[in-house]
Amino acid sequence: MVIVGGGTAGSVIASRLSADPAVRVCLIEGGPSDVGDQRVLQLRNWLNLLETEFDYDYPIVEQPRGNSHLRHSRARVLGGCSSHNTMISFLPLPGDFADWVAAGATGWSYDEMLPYWKRLAVNITPVAEPRNPLAADFVAACHTALGVPIVEDFNASPFVDGTGFFSVGYHPETGVRSSASVSYLHPHLDRPNLTIMTETWAFHLDPATGVTVRQGDEVNIIKARHEYVLSAGAIDTPRLLLLSGIGPAADLERLGIDVRADVPGVGEHLLDHPESLILWEASRPIPPMSAMDSDAGLFVRRDPSAERPDLMFHLYQIPFTVNTARLGYDVPAHGFGMTPNVPRPRSAGRLTLADADPGTKPLLDFRYFTDAGGYDEQTIVDGLRLAREVAATEPFASWIAREIAPGPALRTDEELSAYGRAAHHTVFHPAGTCRMGAAGDELAVVDPELRLRGFPNVRIADASVFPTMPTVNPMVAVFLIGERAADLISADLK
Ligand SMILES: Cc1cc2nc3c(=O)[nH]c(=O)nc-3n(C[C@H](O)[C@H](O)[C@H](O)COP(=O)(O)OP(=O)(O)OC[C@H]3O[C@@H](n4cnc5c(N)ncnc54)[C@H](O)[C@@H]3O)c2cc1C
Repeated sequence: MVIVGGGTAGSVIASRLSADPAVRVCLIEGGPSDVGDQRVLQLRNWLNLLETEFDYDYPIVEQPRGNSHLRHSRARVLGGCSSHNTMISFLPLPGDFADWVAAGATGWSYDEMLPYWKRLAVNITPVAEPRNPLAADFVAACHTALGVPIVEDFNASPFVDGTGFFSVGYHPETGVRSSASVSYLHPHLDRPNLTIMTETWAFHLDPATGVTVRQGDEVNIIKARHEYVLSAGAIDTPRLLLLSGIGPAADLERLGIDVRADVPGVGEHLLDHPESLILWEASRPIPPMSAMDSDAGLFVRRDPSAERPDLMFHLYQIPFTVNTARLGYDVPAHGFGMTPNVPRPRSAGRLTLADADPGTKPLLDFRYFTDAGGYDEQTIVDGLRLAREVAATEPFASWIAREIAPGPALRTDEELSAYGRAAHHTVFHPAGTCRMGAAGDELAVVDPELRLRGFPNVRIADASVFPTMPTVNPMVAVFLIGERAADLISADLK
């Protein structure tokens, strides 16, 4: 068994499959090992890993209605993005999985996914004491201002709205992240049937002959006896397929790549959770205790009859000013913010290659805020207004010295939309570029058993297979994909 990508899903699959000593697993990972590296292991160091050697750091193409300056961080280290993210951990809501089933993903309902949730090896727990007092006052103010319940554990049962401290995949006593590698690989590194090749970059797949990889100056081909699993993530899995001649034929021909299979959905349906920011200067220094500097959040239903939230916010206990500073706003010594986020965005984009060179970064066109009805943009506008209601409410209000961005002068829909889109960023949730769907769905790249269209010995298991974006942060959904992929493969092996 050859798995490309030792990230969030790939680590789970390698761990589960190699539990059977009769199955030989080779895990190919582009980045270094995280073992013993406290820069990676300490959850609170996450922000210092972005745009470093641990990050592939992908730019995006010009966005006519969004922020063209933002960069998509993707981890280059064992454990993948679970080794450099914030580990906010949500079981997706029943309606999120119902959307997947409706999109053709038979077998992926909430009830069918619950057993995988229950067996996750990740240590998921609500943010531990001592908790940040700013975040505690934020939660209290959201409850008072908006009437949403305070949720003690967002994963205890499905919620329709609410505010509270997040659940996080970490070990509070040591501050170590419970990443895919820490939870699934570190305990099993001595398995003789598990080979982990780090610093090994796959750049071509021929399902008949093997995966071509670069290791330093060497190029080698690694062949699987049973099957290949692509778990390189929502950007690098479609990139690898396109480089291998598997994708929309016309695009491949234009790039001079031999077409192995015309699979028109590869790279299409590029999704993300865009979010904007309301930034405040703090009236006093913010106490440092924190799990990862964004410990609490808020889910709102603008439509009270809806069964899922349609607006989400992270609280940032730090001044996140990269986009506001670019727009000329002050950078406070002490500041914090709320981030209106579009949980189920309606805009979708596309990933393509710029050329046939495996070293060239792909073109990421998210088409942020381009949905026909303006739904995504209106969600941001409504969110900025709701954030001001929370900001005016005690005990949160007295933490605020002033609103820096968008600034109190901006009030109309047009002004808030223009600001919100210019300052928006990403919470790094790209997904959907090899989406799962029914056999007859031309744009589906994998079937509900995760098999690549036309290639019975290749599966894809990572965020690229999302049929739709879950309402919540997506990492747990990726862990669940890894767990289910392992079961599907094991069943076949038997
Ligand atoms: C900064 C940041 C913060 C985030 N915070 C959260 C959060 O708090 N909660 C949440 O739910 N989600 C969060 N996310 C998103 C979440 O982490 C991802 O959606 C999820 O981890 C993706 O998992 P994956 O298996 O699809 O890909 P990854 O985890 O990215 O795994 C892909 C792996 O493949 C390797 N790889 C890629 N290409 C190749 C190749 N060609 N050859 C060999 N190896 C290759 C990579 O090095 C990587 O290890 C965050 C993401 C980022 C970047």
